[in-house]
Amino acid sequence: MTARKYLKSLLELFYPNLCLCCAQRSLSQGQSFCIPCLHQFPLTNHFEMDDNELVQRFLGRVKLEAGMALLYNYKSGLVSGMIHQLKYKRNKFVGSELGILIGDKLKEKDNFIMPDYILPVPIHPKRRKKRGYNQSEIIGQSISTILNIPMLTDVLFKKISTTTQTKKSRVDRMNNIFKSFSVKNTEQLTGKHILIVDDVMTTGATIEACAESLKDVVDLKISVVTLAIAKS
Ligand SMILES: [Zn+2]
Repeated sequence: MTARKYLKSLLELFYPNLCLCCAQRSLSQGQSFCIPCLHQFPLTNHFEMDDNELVQRFLGRVKLEAGMALLYNYKSGLVSGMIHQLKYKRNKFVGSELGILIGDKLKEKDNFIMPDYILPVPIHPKRRKKRGYNQSEIIGQSISTILNIPMLTDVLFKKISTTTQTKKSRVDRMNNIFKSFSVKNTEQLTGKHILIVDDVMTTGATIEACAESLKDVVDLKISVVTLAIAKS
């Protein structure tokens, strides 16, 4: 046994490699999720069906080349647990591993026109500082690596924090979201196809606002992929 292997097995003894979903079952090398969890993943059919629920939710709001979510997010369940880990427990591995699943699905998808760039939905700098990372960027990074497409983090910016708005009315909230993004360096996007990446799609207002902020880019084509889509 080499020193490196010895060290690794010693580490695994103290820090067993646990499933990123249930955090209970230990895994063999190279795995991120245990088989029972993988079997229970509420996968959507979006990668096999072009006219899917996510695309339909954007009808009349954003013209999409393609739109997909990997998983359904029910109020309490496997997926909401993983998203909680990703957003509030500093477990960015959940995001990168699920991003790999998305990348693989996109790679296999028939008639998928490869985007030129990946654009993660930004979060406010204050929140990023608190969390340590932008979760959409973590997901986007995996997709970027698998598809070999560059990710741009110098275009979309969140300038207004929209976190403490639970008490505001729905209309106020929407207005706030629409004003909360700004753009820079958009010249590079002329005539390009971008893939916007987000964690969860609920109303779609966030992605709609991102698309709205890019409306002056000539001949821009937009696709969207999210980790999950909210289901009641
Ligand atoms: Zn598990």
